[in-house]
Amino acid sequence: MNKYEQMTYRRCGKSGLKLPAISLGLWHNFGFVDKYEHFRETLHTAFDQGITHFDLANNYGPPPGSAEENFGKILHADFKRHRDEMIISTKAGYTMWDGPYGDWGSKKYLVASLDQSLKRMGLEYVDIFYHHRPDPETPLEETMRTLDLVVRQGKALYAGISNYPAKLAAEAFKILNELGTPCVIHQPKYSMFERWVEDGLLDTLETYGVGCIPFSPLAQGMLTNKYLHGIPEDSRAAKAHGFLKKESLTEGRLKQISKLNDLAQSRGQSLAQMALSWLLKDKRVTSVLVGASSKEQLLDSLKCLENQSFSSEQLDKIENILSE
Ligand code: NDP
Repeated sequence: MNKYEQMTYRRCGKSGLKLPAISLGLWHNFGFVDKYEHFRETLHTAFDQGITHFDLANNYGPPPGSAEENFGKILHADFKRHRDEMIISTKAGYTMWDGPYGDWGSKKYLVASLDQSLKRMGLEYVDIFYHHRPDPETPLEETMRTLDLVVRQGKALYAGISNYPAKLAAEAFKILNELGTPCVIHQPKYSMFERWVEDGLLDTLETYGVGCIPFSPLAQGMLTNKYLHGIPEDSRAAKAHGFLKKESLTEGRLKQISKLNDLAQSRGQSLAQMALSWLLKDKRVTSVLVGASSKEQLLDSLKCLENQSFSSEQLDKIENILSE
C-alpha cells in the first residue's frame, strides 16, 4: 500500500481542501534548541506515512521564528520536489517583535509577519494563513480584511482562525464570506481534558461549513502513558521552555490518566491512540494536530487510525473517568 492509500484524508468543512486525519505541529521540538537531525527524521517519518499537513506559526521555536527557519531548510534540502503534495500552514497573532506592530491583529502586523514567515521558510506562499488569537482592540473587520488581502495577493491560499470563541468566530465567518474568502478552518484547543468547543463552537463550524483542527489533542503529552510513573527528564513538563507545567500533573489528573490508560489497553490501544481516536470519531473534526518529540511517538499516534469506533459503554466509561 502506498502512503496515500494508508492515510485517511478528510474534507475540510465545505471547502475543496482535504487534510490528513493526523497533521503534525511544530510548536515544540523543531526550534534551534532542538536537534536538527532528530526532528528532520520526524518530518521524514511524517511525510512517508502520508502526513501532508505541517502546522507552524511565526513564534514557534524557541527562539521565535526558528521552527519556520528549520522547516524551510529541510523543505528545500529534502522535499523541494514535493511542495505541491504538502499543506504548509502558519499564523500570526501572538507577540513576535517589540513595539506596537509585533502582536495581535492589525493589518500592519499581519502583513509584515506573513512576509517574514515566507522569507524564513523560503516560500512564495503558504497554504493556510491563520489569525492566531482574537484581538480585543483591533476591529474584527480589519483583521478579516487582511486575511482576504493576503489570499488575494497569493501569499496564502486559504484563510483560517484559531482560538476564537463561537460567537466571534461566526462574526468572522460572515465577514470573510462577504469578502469572498471563506474561512476554511478553525484551530481550537480540544482534547478529552479540554472540552469548551463542544459548547457551541463545533455546531457553529458545521453551520458555516468550516473545518476543525484540534490542537494539543494529547493535552501536551498528559493523555499518553509518559507521566504514569513520574516526570521523565526529557519530557515537555521537565523542560524549562516547555509550556506544560509540572503543576498540571495533579494527583487527580494522574488518577484519571491511569484509568484512561487501562481503558485504552482494553481496546488494544495506547492512551495516545485512544485520545486521538476519541476526537476523530466526530466527523466535524477534520484532522487532529499532534506534536511529537520523536518519530516513534508519531508512529505510535498514527496507529489510532486502525480503531476509531467506540462502544457506548466505553464512551460512558470515559465520561465517568473525566468527571471524577
Ligand atoms: P500534543 O497534545 O499532541 O502533545 C505533543 C506531546 O505529547 C509531544 O511533544 C510528546 O511530549 C507527547 N507525545 C506525542 N505523541 C506521543 C505518544 N504517541 N506517546 C507518548 N507521548 C507522546 O500537541 P502539542 O501541544 O504539541 O500541539 C500540537 C500542535 O498544535 C503544535 O505543534 C502546534 O502546531 C499546534 N498548537 C496551536 C496552538 C494555537 O494557539 N493555535 C497552541 C498550541 C499548539 P514530549 O515532548 O514530552 O515527549
